[in-house]
Amino acid sequence: MNKDILTARGDFPILNQTVNDQPLVYLDNAATTQKPQCVIDAISRYYTTVNANIHRGNHTLAVHATEAYENVRKKVADYINASSTNEIVFTSGATESINLVAHSFGEVFVKPGDEILVSQLEHHSNYVPWQLMCQKQKAKFRVIPFDEKGELDLEILNSMINDKTRIIAINHVSNSLGTVNPIHEIVKIAHSAGIPILVDGAQAVQHMPHDVQAIDADFYAFSGHKMYAPMGTGILYGKESWLEKLPPYQSGGEMINQVTPQEVTFNVLPYKFEAGTPNVADVIGLGAAIDYLNLFDFKQLQAYEEDLLNYGLKLLKDIEGLKIYGNPKQRSAIIPFNVDGIQHYDMGILLDARGIAVRTGQHCTQPIMDALHISGTVRASLALYNTEEDLDALAHGIRRVIRMIRR
Ligand code: PMP
Repeated sequence: MNKDILTARGDFPILNQTVNDQPLVYLDNAATTQKPQCVIDAISRYYTTVNANIHRGNHTLAVHATEAYENVRKKVADYINASSTNEIVFTSGATESINLVAHSFGEVFVKPGDEILVSQLEHHSNYVPWQLMCQKQKAKFRVIPFDEKGELDLEILNSMINDKTRIIAINHVSNSLGTVNPIHEIVKIAHSAGIPILVDGAQAVQHMPHDVQAIDADFYAFSGHKMYAPMGTGILYGKESWLEKLPPYQSGGEMINQVTPQEVTFNVLPYKFEAGTPNVADVIGLGAAIDYLNLFDFKQLQAYEEDLLNYGLKLLKDIEGLKIYGNPKQRSAIIPFNVDGIQHYDMGILLDARGIAVRTGQHCTQPIMDALHISGTVRASLALYNTEEDLDALAHGIRRVIRMIRR
């Protein structure tokens, strides 16, 4: 029997409090999700009973810590349906996962005059690392534009690919507009031209069923803290054939095989990419978050969040002077908006005074804001513990802010 989504809220202790003397309405989930008690307990249990460095020691605690850590790698592989744990590299977050690929791929496979394609819908984390790599390798950084609906035009994407294109980097879901990109189709386009692709799944893995083998991307990056796991955890999925070809990103302990003054050889996958002591306790927390997510029927979870999103969009569309940005065929969990004559920052502060947490500003997507000719938006973003009451409170809060400012 799957867990009932309507019982989820009670699993998140932080939600059960007042902020500014109002019950907390947490709608900043695209920035980070809250953590269920089972995740908090797993970290505490780890430090209380298991803590030891991993892969190095042969005493009992070290063995237990190593087993627990590697067990989470298996959970992650199963969660995204990777074919092997060798394809799962632990990182500190999506940002580090993408930097790893941009750096290591660029070093070997990108030469002066080559071209890299990213979309205009990217978070800076999937934009700047490629931009810097292009500067270093003297390659051309090219940006696939989005249209008035907030979607990528696949014909334009196709037309930008040529024999100099070395890699394409695109998100699965935009953190600013919520656009769900047709990632299967995009991967097919890339592969039919023989080009590898990195998909930034930071806003996708927590909202929809996930199967990296079906998506077929060469690399898939995401963060633990946006999927109910602790901060400081991230994953880079990479096809084994690609990870084998990439040089290490960082060097140090555990990533080597042999070290002499003359030469160094590297450890097997995935350890070649995991230099130094990792964030073991938080990875254990990530394992608990995956166990928690696995309690739900993911199709039901997705349908619940979609209904919630549509409910919220409808409520907000009815507010006079409120503009919602983008109108993609498929949107996930994100409502970006502004109200005529009210700065997004002011709206955020005034909603906060009513206990409603939203994000305001550029959302690390200046290229999107520039294309829309705005300085930023207010962004309400959803998670599985949100309810229609949260969105009612948001709509009510926005109306009160409007009345207050227009008075
Ligand atoms: N990509 C997307 C689409 C994101 O939303 C974010 C976080 N806002 C990132 C990358 C970067 O994630 P992190 O800060 O956890 O590394």
